[in-house]
Amino acid sequence: RTVYLNGEYLPETEARVSIFDRAFLMADGVYEVTSVLGGKLIDFEGHLKRLERSLNELDMPKPEAFDELLDIHRELVRVNDIDDGLIYLQVTRGSDGDRDFAFPDPETTAPTLVLFTQSKPGLANSPQAEKGLKIISIDDVRWGRRDIKTVQLLYPSMGKMMAKKAGCDDAWMVEDGHVTEGTSNNAYIVKGGRIITRQLSNDILHGITRAAVLRFAREAQMEVEERPFTIEEAKTADEAFVTSASAFVMPVVEIDGASLGDGKPGPVARRLREIYLEESLKKAI
Ligand code: PLP
Repeated sequence: RTVYLNGEYLPETEARVSIFDRAFLMADGVYEVTSVLGGKLIDFEGHLKRLERSLNELDMPKPEAFDELLDIHRELVRVNDIDDGLIYLQVTRGSDGDRDFAFPDPETTAPTLVLFTQSKPGLANSPQAEKGLKIISIDDVRWGRRDIKTVQLLYPSMGKMMAKKAGCDDAWMVEDGHVTEGTSNNAYIVKGGRIITRQLSNDILHGITRAAVLRFAREAQMEVEERPFTIEEAKTADEAFVTSASAFVMPVVEIDGASLGDGKPGPVARRLREIYLEESLKKAI
């Protein structure tokens, strides 16, 4: 696999980053994941805008190649011959060769920019979408700036492991009695045809797929309500689903052991998955 590191395309075994890099020592980095379908990028503009926002919120310098990111994505898709898959991009604050809580001088310390591809043949035809996900609920103990897409992913990783241990697929996190989001996705329930999902704030990541799906839902005259909901409300909902760049729209069929509806992916989630894939493929670049 060829990867990109700070201006160079390299074999993955030759790409090296300093042990003093602040992402390694302090999780001082932000990232984006963009899907590739049929060799084209899904929602690229949205991911680029959110990357810029994450960098701004953390006072992290933009990498020199920021304006070339589309070309870099396309080149990696080309050289790695990616038909369906993902592109992972990470920007870190770099390093001035020491460990210090204070940020290094941005005049003399360049950010680190890394991109790599992951091939996922048949990404849009995942068998999981036919089965749906089983979800457990866990406390949300993350920091208060979940709107920034940082590489601090230890708790979400632990949440995934807790779900696996319980024989489930993923976890929804709960704070002050209400669901915030999934470990790596935004969370939704459906009641009486209405789509309910938590409103945007610093409590959740502003999902790029969320924005697109809500837009398509409204265009299709579906009712959308942006408000918090509890796990109890979710357990008695008609259906539920999650959205993310890598899973698109993924139905949820069980929450904390309670089956939703008839225990199969619901019609609203199925329809939104179809619309999302169709519409975002049309706009793919
Ligand atoms: N929420 C969290 C915590 C995430 O990690 C992700 C994606 O990685 C999402 C939501 C979904 O965001 P997007 O649709 O932009 O992938």
